[in-house]
Amino acid sequence: MEFAAFADRAEEIEAESADTAITEAVTDLFTDAGSDLPTLARFVQGRVFPAYEARTLDIGPRLCYEAIARAAGQNISADDVEQRLADMGEIGAVAASYDLGGQQGLAAFGAGGGSDALTVAELDAELRDLAAVDGSGSQGTKVDILFGLFSRCSPTEASYLARLVLSEMRIGVGEGTVRDAVAAAFGVPVDAVERAVQVSNDYGMVAEVARDEGEAGLDTIRLEIGRPVQAMLAQAGTVAGALEDWDRAAVEWKYDGARVQVHFDGEDARLFSRNMEEVTDPLPEVVDTVESTLDAPAILDGEVVAVDADGEPLPFQEVLRRFRRKHDVAAARENVAVRLHAFDCLHADGEDLLDAPLETRHDRLESLFPPDSEIVSQMWLSDDAGGIEDLETEALDAEQEGIMLKDPTASYSPGKRGKHWRKRKPDVETLDCVVTGAEWGEGRRANALGSFELSVRTDDGYATVGNVATGITDAELDDLTERFEAHIRSEDGRDVTLDPAIVFEVGYEEIQASQSYDSGYALRFPRFISVREDKTPEDADSLERVKRLAASQ
Ligand code: ATP
Repeated sequence: MEFAAFADRAEEIEAESADTAITEAVTDLFTDAGSDLPTLARFVQGRVFPAYEARTLDIGPRLCYEAIARAAGQNISADDVEQRLADMGEIGAVAASYDLGGQQGLAAFGAGGGSDALTVAELDAELRDLAAVDGSGSQGTKVDILFGLFSRCSPTEASYLARLVLSEMRIGVGEGTVRDAVAAAFGVPVDAVERAVQVSNDYGMVAEVARDEGEAGLDTIRLEIGRPVQAMLAQAGTVAGALEDWDRAAVEWKYDGARVQVHFDGEDARLFSRNMEEVTDPLPEVVDTVESTLDAPAILDGEVVAVDADGEPLPFQEVLRRFRRKHDVAAARENVAVRLHAFDCLHADGEDLLDAPLETRHDRLESLFPPDSEIVSQMWLSDDAGGIEDLETEALDAEQEGIMLKDPTASYSPGKRGKHWRKRKPDVETLDCVVTGAEWGEGRRANALGSFELSVRTDDGYATVGNVATGITDAELDDLTERFEAHIRSEDGRDVTLDPAIVFEVGYEEIQASQSYDSGYALRFPRFISVREDKTPEDADSLERVKRLAASQ
């Protein structure tokens, strides 16, 4: 398929507002996709790589503006593009507003008919090449490749290329739409598609199997060691609620660390964070422990906690710091050690266990380690509220966050925040907010950002809930300024608009209804707690959660 045809379809999809009409349009796109089906199943969601890869194109907005400016002509600079973005508000519209070459090239020979027409397959290959560019001069090479692509684009193509490159596709197509469209296009049950995606984390592959091999083919998709699945998540809950819904609750400590998925192929262990990023190198102790203890292939789910020289737990930010300090692990290791607490087993020795009840999965987990191994998180089965509360006190005394209550009969549902796992932590709730703007400091601090605009997810973007400046040291501000510089979209005096990229965990005293922010809510006395290195903007809290929290105050 030519990329121009995809861009036209994307424009049609974007113009629809009803969910059913969007699903139908995506269904038609998949039916007509031919060999481009896997690529299109990713492109409609604004993805170039499957969800199991943390890989991105790693193109900052500035690189993209430079490429657009070069394709637009001699007198246009990246600053001009940025200025136009500040006026128009959306990069696709900006890219479409310039003569990037497609018009002179293609239209002159009859649109779409020129031999130079960019195809979906070619674009996919070029973007993958671009992602692989590394080393000195890589930024220049990336701009060159992008410039080459934009110069072949009509306005509509340029619009969707810019959005794809900056991960801002936003045509109203989420995972649910793609799942339903794959089912409708190839006559397979929605459940079978959902299951296959949970297991493989790859919509492109699932769409192709659904088309070529039907439901029977989807049923054969298995977990693969080295390909992380999405983590099962928890809701907030109470002991009474859990005991009302289940005969017995499985109770575990809620460790104060970072989620890690362990993939052991029989020889080597690889580790992945909650957002699928590989964190094998930053956690060598965990790799050593797993490799020296396990003797058959396995996929485990667990929490990594940091401890001091006496084995006492340290705040979870210490683990996240390791994730960032990939180059200086040896030094980090001297001060802070990390330990794995494995609490689930998704695969053991050739057998997928996602569908097995938690109790069975936990038995299997125990069987992989020596008796009483400290690596296996202890799980108690109880129907006694008092006993469970005692366990919670023990967990808090051990400086962990609280307890997890799990339905012992439930299967493992990747990516689901359902009722089968509930968390109880007595601390005041915190919010994970996407930083969408900032303000430069004043006087002595004029070269550093000093305050940050906080937003939560909505159905079609982000809505602001406040600004945070409290709780951040000058050293942290300098570090944050350096990190945010790559994500600056535009500036107006001291005000900076940022591309959504970094997630802050913030505390607050209360959530108030307020017209000062576009969410309709404001955080009272927000304070910075940490950067959630393990979360992407998609994992940030939603407006729905803010509403629920406000209602429960
Ligand atoms: P939080 O900010 O509370 O950690 P979250 O959004 O990261 O929440 P949730 O699904 O809401 O994730 O809460 C469960 C989290 O608790 C898991 O992601 C995991 O990192 C952590 N955790 C600690 N101990 C356990 C355990 N025994 N079982 C499951 N998850 C655990």
